[in-house]
Amino acid sequence: MSGIVLVGLGVSGLACALELQQQAAGFSAFEREPVVGGLTRSERMDGFTFDYGPHVILQTPELFGRLDLALEDCVCQSAIFPNLGQLISIPAPIQHHLHRLPVAERVKIFLDIVRRNLNPRKKISGSFQELILAQSGKTLFHLFFRDYELKRMRLPLAEIDAAMPSRIQPPSLPYLFGLGQASRQVACGGNDTRFKYPRAGGIDALPKAMLHRLPPTRLHLQHDLLEIDPLQKQVVFANGRSEYFSSLVLSLPLPEVVARLQNPPPAILEAAKHLVYSSLYVLNVGIDSPSRLPWAIARIPKQDVCFYRVSVPSNYSKASVPDGLSSLTVEVAHHEQRHPLSTLEARRLIYQDLGRLGILAAPQQVVVEWLHNIRYGHVVYTAKTRPALALIFSYLSQHGIYCCGKYGEWRDMLMPHAIESGAAAAHKALTQ
Ligand SMILES: Cc1cc2nc3c(=O)[nH]c(=O)nc-3n(C[C@H](O)[C@H](O)[C@H](O)COP(=O)(O)OP(=O)(O)OC[C@H]3O[C@@H](n4cnc5c(N)ncnc54)[C@H](O)[C@@H]3O)c2cc1C
Repeated sequence: MSGIVLVGLGVSGLACALELQQQAAGFSAFEREPVVGGLTRSERMDGFTFDYGPHVILQTPELFGRLDLALEDCVCQSAIFPNLGQLISIPAPIQHHLHRLPVAERVKIFLDIVRRNLNPRKKISGSFQELILAQSGKTLFHLFFRDYELKRMRLPLAEIDAAMPSRIQPPSLPYLFGLGQASRQVACGGNDTRFKYPRAGGIDALPKAMLHRLPPTRLHLQHDLLEIDPLQKQVVFANGRSEYFSSLVLSLPLPEVVARLQNPPPAILEAAKHLVYSSLYVLNVGIDSPSRLPWAIARIPKQDVCFYRVSVPSNYSKASVPDGLSSLTVEVAHHEQRHPLSTLEARRLIYQDLGRLGILAAPQQVVVEWLHNIRYGHVVYTAKTRPALALIFSYLSQHGIYCCGKYGEWRDMLMPHAIESGAAAAHKALTQ
């Protein structure tokens, strides 16, 4: 007998399962790992709780209200180290703290604002570079956005499509003169001054709370999906188990979905070549003393520093470190062809740059570390990505296969959006 089969139990897959359950639909769910959560997992090491990648909760979907999940309200300033001769940090978002910049930069930003007002913005349909330049103005583009985005994507911004989501607020005169009200609106990728975080257990508490609401008999861990046969409507797992499906919901990364299709049309294989991404090394370290850094997250555009972001989880979650100690999480983007970097070299560069910037310096000692690689870190759009996605999704949906989540839909998403995407996929599966 065939029913709805769901593969991948990160937050999007879990949200899909919860929605199917809410609708009283039969389903079977499978996950490769021995635990659920995908990217929103945490590891415990010597009294430290490290998230798989640094995760804070910027919005709380309605679903959270139904979960047994204790969240802490965190208020913690974040920082940006703009591309300037001297090393200075500016609170994030940079657009709200322009008065902290040197006078010469403020004059240039003033002229950018005047030029923008004389020449109102046209609709941008070209590259991501044009889009950010139009949103931020030339000076902020050079001080921060150009190099920061380049370090995240590892692809020249002129080759990235303007369809890439960008939430950059333009600079405005009141902030230039220190008169603006710090708004709660999103600026450079999120308002990371105010957010929520699980009171205990790291970000893992979220998938665990979702799992708690699901019947264990429907969930099958350690099932690594190997093959998808769209014509026979069958999936095969590495342990030999196979399942027929009426609808299939997948949240694994889209290139991995295409790689598992039996006899896909050549056009689908060709389209998958346009699913561009950057990978991430994430280094978590536990430190033997309190943090000397005041912020939650620092963004560093400088090209001679290997990482683009450093988070200080111990500043927003005291429960994540033993009393009196602290932790850091560092992210370095790379790509096997465009920006090759071995794990060993990444580790060496991270420690060298942490020392150079004074973020980690003697007598502080690292007492525990965890370095791992996230293959699909940032999803990148070129001009060919959108048509490629349309082709792949059309082929899959003709066979009752629906993709959800950040890497399934191949779209930049925060956890709340991945959760919405999983719930929406449940409805598509039900109407098949
Ligand atoms: C470094 C980093 C930091 C982030 N920070 C934030 C943040 O602060 N706030 C925020 O809201 N969002 C953040 N995000 C985004 C957030 O992580 C994602 O939106 C969300 O976790 C995506 O969940 P998902 O279920 O779509 O995908 P995933 O978590 O990737 O889930 C996919 C699941 O599929 C499973 N799977 C893969 N292959 C197979 C297979 N062959 N067989 C069976 N199962 C398989 C995986 O094990 C995994 O469990 C961040 C992302 C990254 C990379």
